Amino acid sequence: MSEREAVTAARPAAPAARSASSAPAGRAVVMDGAALARKVRHEVAARAAGFAARTGRRPGLAVVQVGEDRASSVYVSYKRKACQEAGIESFGHDLPAATAESQLLALIAELNRDERVDGILVQLPLPGGLSPDRIMDAIDPRKDVDGFHPVNFGLLAQKRPRLRPCTPYGVIRLAQEYGIALRGVKATVVGDSTIVGRPMAMELLLAEATVTVCHIATRDLRADVERAEVLVSAVGKAGLIRGDWIRPGAAVFDVGISWAANGKLCGDVEFERAAERAGWITPVPGGLGPMTIAMLLSNTIDAACARAGTS
Ligand code: NAP
Repeated sequence: MSEREAVTAARPAAPAARSASSAPAGRAVVMDGAALARKVRHEVAARAAGFAARTGRRPGLAVVQVGEDRASSVYVSYKRKACQEAGIESFGHDLPAATAESQLLALIAELNRDERVDGILVQLPLPGGLSPDRIMDAIDPRKDVDGFHPVNFGLLAQKRPRLRPCTPYGVIRLAQEYGIALRGVKATVVGDSTIVGRPMAMELLLAEATVTVCHIATRDLRADVERAEVLVSAVGKAGLIRGDWIRPGAAVFDVGISWAANGKLCGDVEFERAAERAGWITPVPGGLGPMTIAMLLSNTIDAACARAGTS
């Protein structure tokens, strides 16, 4: 069995896949990322308990935060709590914003050597003066549970994924859960960042979709959205994707996060109008946010098992 076949075989069984032309009739099915995330976290907790029984230690995740960005502090506290609930030991490292890059690199070298640590997460964004590329490159790829290291990105691009970026992997898990066809469909990804848009395109290619990637220089975003049977938007601009652009029956995954003037959290897609046309749609909040954390835990137990040479 090739590595790729093994990845496909290891995926959970999904209902018969459906595409835009056979989408459920009527208003879109709202995909419940929070519910699937709970299911994934239960699976992780069971695997973590098995790992602890076999190895005599819990899987470990080091969570590094530099500075006191408010949103980052909230995300980090969610991640630490999720670890605790799943039986994963969380090692917190909170560093001041003025931390020198050499100090952060020294901490990463120490975590790379620490046998108790299976995964290392450095919360982004980093304060100015610290290069995210240099920091990510320093993480041992076997402990890169965010899937951002060039080795893990490269393996995904070469169709032999190992540790997969959490948000794109979460999109794939949601699509499987709801029986949404990816093979052969026209998929559009809006946003081409290295942490969401580009790996998302690689995941969709791995699933054998025909992929278009839109970015800031895209001439006709509307046309690329209108043809999409599967749409993933990861920009962070509320209302960028108009509801009436959505292809009838399409599966819409809204990764974007921004705050409206009234303080409400929003995605990139005009949700209400889009839901009248789409076959499936993710809400914001309650869609990819919880899935991202669940896939982080899933990557941590995968990394722990791979390091320990156990299943
Ligand atoms: P990012 O690094 O800012 O990337 C945004 C991307 O969108 C860039 O590639 C940017 O291109 C592109 N873009 C900007 N305006 C555009 C336009 N009008 N049309 C098409 N593309 C455009 O952000 P990110 O880290 O990828 O995250 C994207 C969004 O997802 C953010 O809102 C973030 O908060 C959210 N997010 C959510 C989760 C979750 O768990 N739900 C996880 C990660 C990220 P240029 O770089 O050329 O400007």
